[in-house]
Amino acid sequence: MKKLLPTSTAGSLPKPAWLAEPETLWSPWKLQGTELIDGKQDALRVALQEQQQAGVDIVSDGEQTRQHFVTTFIEHLNGVDFENRKTVTIRNRYEASVPSVIGPVSRSKPVFVEDAKFLRSQTKQPIKWALPGPMTMIDTLYDAHYQSREQLAWEFAKILNQEAKELEAAGVDIIQFDEPAFNVFFDDVNDWGIKCLERAIEGLECETAVHICYGYGIKANTDWKQTLGNEWRQYEEVFPKLQKSNIDIISLECHNSRVPIELLALIRGKKVMVGAIDVASNEIETPEEVAHTLREALKYVDANKLYPCTNCGMAPLPRHIASAKLSALSKGAEIVRGEVLGARS
Ligand SMILES: [Zn+2]
Repeated sequence: MKKLLPTSTAGSLPKPAWLAEPETLWSPWKLQGTELIDGKQDALRVALQEQQQAGVDIVSDGEQTRQHFVTTFIEHLNGVDFENRKTVTIRNRYEASVPSVIGPVSRSKPVFVEDAKFLRSQTKQPIKWALPGPMTMIDTLYDAHYQSREQLAWEFAKILNQEAKELEAAGVDIIQFDEPAFNVFFDDVNDWGIKCLERAIEGLECETAVHICYGYGIKANTDWKQTLGNEWRQYEEVFPKLQKSNIDIISLECHNSRVPIELLALIRGKKVMVGAIDVASNEIETPEEVAHTLREALKYVDANKLYPCTNCGMAPLPRHIASAKLSALSKGAEIVRGEVLGARS
């Protein structure tokens, strides 16, 4: 990316109300059969146009073809029974009905590659594609087969690597792995979580990112945040090892969070997607607020390594709010871009 401070989103955008129930996670589709296939493509076009009109530089599919960022991927794999769902507690936080692993997991066909080709055909801009990370995957299902979190995560990492290589071949510029679980299970992250992530990116030549956040703005997450105290130092536990990993970009929650910004010093040298838009509030940031968050991050991240971004996905937000937040992100980035270039000239 040649442009300074290129903007992007963490991934998801709200779906149109004709495709799925708005402001809901795991929202059921409103269409069926070929109408659903066409509807998803139309929604992807709309999501792309929203990003382009807002001035987003690195665009995504807005995750319009997925019901959920983790389970949709898992449901396409062999060894997973998604009709016999089990209730588990996700990230020690909230209960959800999820698929079960009942045998060896494998991928018999690509999951998102056709969608990625479609997005690629719609734009010449750099595109980013999000996949669930191995640790977040195992935390979003019931395992009745492996009985080992580490072993199952490793199997998923190998499958993710197959998918990632095909996404790269389809023309994806940045492949991002969503690992909110990295903010919860620190010992596992350091023991095998980062190792699994590196297995997932093995042999890739495109850029790779890991997204670690405090979750969507749903009640279970906002309640959890209330218990974290005045300073959120979770990143401190995993940054030192991530800094030494092969991952190119680290995507983080910053704006309106209680993450001490100086923790960014622990990943010095990495590219950083700085969350400058709060997805847990319907209040629209002003460009100046976005700029303030970016300036704070610039104290620890070189300008040519800083990617202004949203804190997390915006799927649960009302569409007009998400749209306005995207514009604020671009305008805020524009302010700081001007300042950095001004200081250089
Ligand atoms: Zn997130």
